[in-house]
Amino acid sequence: MCSPTRTTIRGSRGNAMKTQIMPADERALRYAGELIAAGEVVAFHTETVYGLGADAANDEAVKKVFALKGRPADNPLIVHVHPDYDISQLVETPAYTQILRERFLPGPLTMVYPSKGRVSPYVSCGLDTLSLRVPSSPVAQAFLRAVDRPIAAPSANRSKHVSPVTAQHVADDFSGEIPLILDGGASRGGIESTVLDCTGSVPQILRAGLVTREMIAAAVGDCGVYRAVRGEKPKSPGMAYKHYAPSCRTAFFARGEEDAARRCYGSEEGRGGTPYLLCDHAAAQRFAGLRVLDLGDSPEEMAAKLYALLREGERRATLLIAVEPHLTGGVMDGVRNRFMRAFGRET
Ligand code: AMP
Ligand code: MG
Repeated sequence: MCSPTRTTIRGSRGNAMKTQIMPADERALRYAGELIAAGEVVAFHTETVYGLGADAANDEAVKKVFALKGRPADNPLIVHVHPDYDISQLVETPAYTQILRERFLPGPLTMVYPSKGRVSPYVSCGLDTLSLRVPSSPVAQAFLRAVDRPIAAPSANRSKHVSPVTAQHVADDFSGEIPLILDGGASRGGIESTVLDCTGSVPQILRAGLVTREMIAAAVGDCGVYRAVRGEKPKSPGMAYKHYAPSCRTAFFARGEEDAARRCYGSEEGRGGTPYLLCDHAAAQRFAGLRVLDLGDSPEEMAAKLYALLREGERRATLLIAVEPHLTGGVMDGVRNRFMRAFGRET
């Protein structure tokens, strides 16, 4: 059975708390500033997914983020700053990173630098690196300017659940547990930022996203892709965990297995269930007449729709049947990574 949202309404200190969803106007930004200064957690819109933000220099506030999410204690957080923040206060900046910042920031690229140790050690889980992101979302920027301090923020979902791309998705996971969600409408990017290790002489992708390996290589001449080695401590601990999982039963079919997916759909219906298919637009057309969640045609469209459709699927379906999209490469590296992992497949 699907159980899409939690019903417990308890604050992080055990008290019921009212969660306000507010547009980022002057009043909301002032309130957000007061909350962050008091060590509270504020969710906010970004162009990728919604973030769950806390003062990166405040140990207790950072620990609260881990506790709220149920996030493993060895999975570091990304620190967010506004475009005019002087990041040399926080990190060492290898020469080539300047080109990347000029080319891609503000935007959906997180860069991992050697840390100067100026934020809470809980942010990077004891690593000597710090990941920084400068979001392009006007709501995120207004929030970061209002608080004018580095904000540690993972995606605003419970650990392992699908990332949130609307304020309502955040409320579905955290209503009653956080005081404020700064609403900026839908997150248009749709998948989390690219995470790029910039601690070596050549940058290396730790997590694929909308800023692709090809784009980075074109800007600085070369870009590697990190592959975890079995038995070795992963460079990006978060990538080792199961992720993005819808809370209903799921099934997965590879490209070329559409007939099997159709039979699976039929047998779920035969048992009185409500199956939905999740697939790209070409497959959706071949499944005409069935209940389909259509990811669309282009990689960017699929990125923008994926999490919203996973959440819709878990709300409506007794069985969510995934059919692997056809496209590969570029932005699809990021889309495929999230898609496969949502259905328990490695990429
Ligand atoms: P999330 O906050 O859910 O978007 O996940 C953040 C991702 O960035 C995870 O995969 C982390 O492992 C990765 N990350 C954050 N900080 C670092 C860091 N200092 N070094 C390596 N990976 C990092
Ligand atoms: Mg996340």
